[in-house]
Amino acid sequence: MKTRVLILGAGFGGLELSTLLSEAFGDEVDVTLIDKNEHFIFGYSKLDVMFGLKTPEAVRLPYRNFVKTGVRFLRQTITAIDPGARRVTTDAGSYEADVMVVALGADYDLDATPGLSDEGSEFYSEAGAERMRGMVHDFSKGRAVIGVSAAPYKCPPAPSECALLLHDHLTKKGVRGRCEITLVLPLGSPVPPSPETSRALVGAFSERGIKFVPSRRVASLDPGRRVTVLDDGSELPYDLFLGVPKHRAPKVVEESGMAEDGWVPVNPRTLETRFPGVYAVGDIANTGTPKAGVFAEAAARAVAASLTARIRGDGQSGAYTGAGSCYIEFGAGKIGRVDVDFFSGPSPRGTYHEPSVALRSEKEHFGSSRRARWFGL
Ligand SMILES: Cc1cc2nc3c(=O)[nH]c(=O)nc-3n(C[C@H](O)[C@H](O)[C@H](O)COP(=O)(O)OP(=O)(O)OC[C@H]3O[C@@H](n4cnc5c(N)ncnc54)[C@H](O)[C@@H]3O)c2cc1C
Repeated sequence: MKTRVLILGAGFGGLELSTLLSEAFGDEVDVTLIDKNEHFIFGYSKLDVMFGLKTPEAVRLPYRNFVKTGVRFLRQTITAIDPGARRVTTDAGSYEADVMVVALGADYDLDATPGLSDEGSEFYSEAGAERMRGMVHDFSKGRAVIGVSAAPYKCPPAPSECALLLHDHLTKKGVRGRCEITLVLPLGSPVPPSPETSRALVGAFSERGIKFVPSRRVASLDPGRRVTVLDDGSELPYDLFLGVPKHRAPKVVEESGMAEDGWVPVNPRTLETRFPGVYAVGDIANTGTPKAGVFAEAAARAVAASLTARIRGDGQSGAYTGAGSCYIEFGAGKIGRVDVDFFSGPSPRGTYHEPSVALRSEKEHFGSSRRARWFGL
């Protein structure tokens, strides 16, 4: 009988895992991949959309193009997960498997920051980035605040990239002199595992007149007074607020009993949960590594190696390396890169690569190679 594998969520983790299983086994394995959305988008595309660099349509990668031998894609919403029975219920049916992999990502808790939903100004969801596109377009005078409500948050460099891209956007419009930009981060530095990357970013902020407020989080917004309230009670007035909401596990995962302290605990090397035959990869899993697509993908590779060994019966298991490279938009067409490694030393380490035009083409290749590999586009 074929091994049945259920993969919950077709983001970075789910897409890579399904692709690897298809490559290894073709239709000798029965893989079911479930996602509620009609398309995937790269996280960084949200910045492109918000700053008017790409249209929302141009960055959507439709799942109808995800065609892999042995993989059945179901566009359904998961409403319940029973990890003990390795069973999920969706709005259209119920599915059981020999192996279940939870790759449902992180959701946002807008209500944790009073005033944030009233203002409608977060850019971390696809809908939010599309909504903010108009607000950013219309902004030509006053104070812009980019603020994060809580750590952990996806792609730690992204709020810094947002500040630098906003500077470029306003400069191109000829209105930078009439605008102030302030960046509020709950972390002590923009990229804590790499002091060199953090120094470069803080240097770029100061060259561009961007005010950086570290170690503070946005506690609430007062849309009536147009004021951001930080966790020490201080206030920052804004005319444009660009927010990163508090992250949380999707409700269906919380209700499944798999989450502890907000996320799903796993063995950080094998990605196994405490439920036999159930793994968790990507943003949903508590591995001690950042919430970023490259890390979700690396975790998926480790699970694919373990499943391949298990199905072939050779007993080897894959190990998650906890390492990955993140591209960072520095503005002015240049991109930097930080290679971070969380597991091989006593503490996380990062290696910084200076911004260059050459790294822009490397980032473009990062996107186009995955678009081709997963979607054949
Ligand atoms: C502005 C921004 C910039 C970023 N830049 C980068 C970057 O440059 N590099 C990088 O590596 N990462 C970046 N990221 C982070 C990256 O997008 C995420 O970390 C990554 O997508 C996580 O992968 P995942 O597989 O864990 O989850 P996701 O990719 O979030 O996938 C989860 C999937 O689960 C589905 N799902 C959730 N709940 C249900 C349900 N109940 N039923 C059915 N389906 C469901 C969702 O529809 C989604 O498709 C960025 C993120 C943002 C917001």
